[in-house]
Amino acid sequence: MDENTQAGRRGLEYSASKGLPVFIMEPLRGGKLVNKLPQEALDVFANHTKQHTPAQWAFKWLFNQKAVTCVLSGMNSMEMVLDNVNTAATTEAGSLTAEDNNMLKQVSAAINSKMKVGCTACGYCMPCPAAVDIPGTFAAYNRRYTESKFWGFVEYTICTALRKDATSASKCIDCGKCERHCPQSIEIRNELKNAAKELETPVYKFVVKGIEKLKLFG
Ligand code: SF4
Ligand code: SF4
Repeated sequence: MDENTQAGRRGLEYSASKGLPVFIMEPLRGGKLVNKLPQEALDVFANHTKQHTPAQWAFKWLFNQKAVTCVLSGMNSMEMVLDNVNTAATTEAGSLTAEDNNMLKQVSAAINSKMKVGCTACGYCMPCPAAVDIPGTFAAYNRRYTESKFWGFVEYTICTALRKDATSASKCIDCGKCERHCPQSIEIRNELKNAAKELETPVYKFVVKGIEKLKLFG
């Protein structure tokens, strides 16, 4: 899911080429790759010839890569510890087949199809002259659809309102600079307008005004 997010796969391989060990955090994206999968993704897993749980596949995908040194994952029970240790012990780098990788690509596509905007958070569109947090806005907007309205709103508020100067989508001045740099050819201005319509609720505006008035962030 995050091969092109932040440093992504390129960063992983570059670090390994310099002899640096790479530790993977949030391998299950905070549990979302286990608990929040759409039915279409579960169907892809169910129809594959080999049967593993979504968590096992996620770990296998990571252990399959030689450049990965260690995977850090929160575990709440002895059962999870044993399961994860077993997956680590039985998955060699390079052991996934072309069919396995193809199946995982289909899972990823099924998850992405639920997203409103295909933003990979690469950040090439930034900085914005009007200080709009473009990838942050799209992450929250997608979360509204892949998880819930509530969590989309929380993420958007934290990422754009809880700061000295709000970085809200509605601050876009339509200059078009960002769209010239987006490798995904996203119609950023239109999508920002859509996101603002849904995310900038009266409560959101109240929070932004309150922070401005109270000068909470100096
Ligand atoms: S079009 Fe809007 S979001 Fe894009 S760079 Fe210009 S002001 Fe920023
Ligand atoms: S909008 Fe495009 S350029 Fe900006 S972070 Fe998303 S994918 Fe990258």
